[in-house]
Amino acid sequence: GALNYSSIYSFVVFGAEGQLIYSSDYGVSAPDSVTEPNVDALRALAENDLVVDVLTRDTPNSSKSVFAYVFVPVMTRDGVPNGVISLFVDRSQMAAHFHALLSWLGWLIPLLCAVFYAVPSCALIFKIEQDRRKARDLNRLSRYDHLTGVFNRRTISEKLMTHYQAGEKEPCYAVFYIDVDKFKAINDEHGHDYGDAILSHFGLLLRETVRPGDLVGRFGGDEFVVILFDATEDIVRIIAKSILQKARKPITVDGHTIQTSLSIGSRLTREGESPQAAIRKADMALYHAKSMGRNQAVEYFPELDIRQTRRRAVEARMRQALEKEEF
Ligand code: GH3
Ligand code: MG
Repeated sequence: GALNYSSIYSFVVFGAEGQLIYSSDYGVSAPDSVTEPNVDALRALAENDLVVDVLTRDTPNSSKSVFAYVFVPVMTRDGVPNGVISLFVDRSQMAAHFHALLSWLGWLIPLLCAVFYAVPSCALIFKIEQDRRKARDLNRLSRYDHLTGVFNRRTISEKLMTHYQAGEKEPCYAVFYIDVDKFKAINDEHGHDYGDAILSHFGLLLRETVRPGDLVGRFGGDEFVVILFDATEDIVRIIAKSILQKARKPITVDGHTIQTSLSIGSRLTREGESPQAAIRKADMALYHAKSMGRNQAVEYFPELDIRQTRRRAVEARMRQALEKEEF
């Protein structure tokens, strides 16, 4: 940087032999006063170049004072040394500037690096988080029944299978196969949206009635399945009774009050019974509950198998008869 005139404190003039001639502090040296030639002045003359002597001093306010003696050789046009001018300059301000600049850079460089890295990093983190949320939403959509908020059929089957494959034969689990009574009539009378609201109501009712850890799922239409883990005959009866009682209470949706009911078929598994077998047995018990007049819970009993076999045989015979146009 250029020297400010104001930062020149003093100057000294030396002769061609480096002897002191004039000092701005002390004035003209007496011609007869013998002085040693100044070493720096001699060097400036010999090298025909600037000689700079820098002094630093600590100041009380902890910043450094930086002074410099600058020896400028003065030559005639044909290169003969004429003398040396020495300037005593204060470079503290400039040094302070440099110091401030360097300490700024010390902050700025890591800061810029941080910004350069942070922007793509943040974008990446944001993207990952967005993907993760999307996956979570998808996972949620694929696991739950969107209308009622309970698990869907696939999730119930998977969870039950996981439990079964864990090999915990005892204690037993129970399966409730549940169906809304005369639901078609509700749809017909009040509309499909009203029917949807009733299904949501039952989804919530079931979730509020089972114990924490039990599972509630919708198997489609007006069918729900409840899985009770660590179940006993007493637990099966108590929870089934509680569900039926709550389901009988009048429901008001959009100003319309209806009274409906549920039918339940239940199966408390015996040792080693597969989920498929248990669900099939609960379904058979439900069929029996419907045929017995609805609004009740029926526990599976082995004779249902025989009845179902007989029913299927009758149905098959009737179908065959219809096909042969015997009716
Ligand atoms: P039952 O006592 O024998 O069960 O008589 P039901 O009228 O309830 O007969 P069923 O269980 O076979 O009928 C189920 C009806 O549920 C048939 C269909 O119109 C209706 N349904 C199926 N899915 C939905 C749905 O998502 N929303 C609504 N609102 N209705 C549905
Ligand atoms: Mg029904």
